[in-house]
Amino acid sequence: MARRRRKRSVDWLISLIDTQLETFGTNRGKFSLREKVLALCKVYENVKDLGVNVLYEHGWDAGAAVERIRLYLVEYAGTVLDGVEIAVVSGISDYPRRIRELRVEAGYQIASGASPDPESGIDLKPDQYLLVDAEPDLDAARRWHVANRIRRSGVGSQKRVLQYLMESLGKVVTTEELAYVAKDAKQYARRVRELRTEHGYSVATRFTGRPDLNVGQYVLQSKERVAEPHDRKIPEPIQRAVYERDSNTCRVCGWKHERWTADDPRILELHHLEHHEDHGPNVQGNLIVICSKCHDEVHSGKHAASLKRIKRSL
Ligand SMILES: [Zn+2]
Ligand SMILES: [Zn+2]
Repeated sequence: MARRRRKRSVDWLISLIDTQLETFGTNRGKFSLREKVLALCKVYENVKDLGVNVLYEHGWDAGAAVERIRLYLVEYAGTVLDGVEIAVVSGISDYPRRIRELRVEAGYQIASGASPDPESGIDLKPDQYLLVDAEPDLDAARRWHVANRIRRSGVGSQKRVLQYLMESLGKVVTTEELAYVAKDAKQYARRVRELRTEHGYSVATRFTGRPDLNVGQYVLQSKERVAEPHDRKIPEPIQRAVYERDSNTCRVCGWKHERWTADDPRILELHHLEHHEDHGPNVQGNLIVICSKCHDEVHSGKHAASLKRIKRSL
């Protein structure tokens, strides 16, 4: 149990620490190792009090460590923070537990370098944190409940990740939720990638057709529609480059996700101009972004003239 940090004057703490360090510097020649460490413990506790009292001085009247962490994360939403900063503002060393509370109970999307995922934009070092959005997601508590049920379902991690995405069809899920469902902070990103590249599921990120999403967010866009086997193995960097070049817009009809409606639920896909089956390569110059409606039409022989024009323009 962490000791409650006392409210004290910052100036007073600074002079106290100064005096303690000076005494330590003068006398340490006479100290045993243990005595040195014990003297530093006193300094260390006062430095921790100083961190918390700097927040009080800043006008944040937060008595609980979890509230200090919350205020600091919200103040610096969108900025990558080191774990040691969270330790300083909270005054506790068990801050990862408080961060979990903020995620699970309050619904904040706090990504962590403990479960990195560069493909979704979460490229953090192990002890780094990022509050993706200053506003908590009020649906998150329900999703964590679902995640908890699936995590314990007894099937393999690949199946659990798919199940979670299926139950959240069309909705945003976060890297932290997927890592939890997969019970593996290092491999879950690979499981998601396999669902795309081996099973052909349309799991979009902000880099692949859904610029409305934030970093660390995924959406399964359809339960039924999966890519043709020959379209599944396009390397991630090439996919990203094609979506970026085509501004996440169907090259044939100009459809983009903003226009999505339940009556016309399209998704964006990639199409090989020279068909992959006929040895068309997985390179940018042979790939375009296309909506699922135009894609079906193209494969039944329509839009030949548009495709010729597009090909010439690449
Ligand atoms: Zn289209
Ligand atoms: Zn195609």
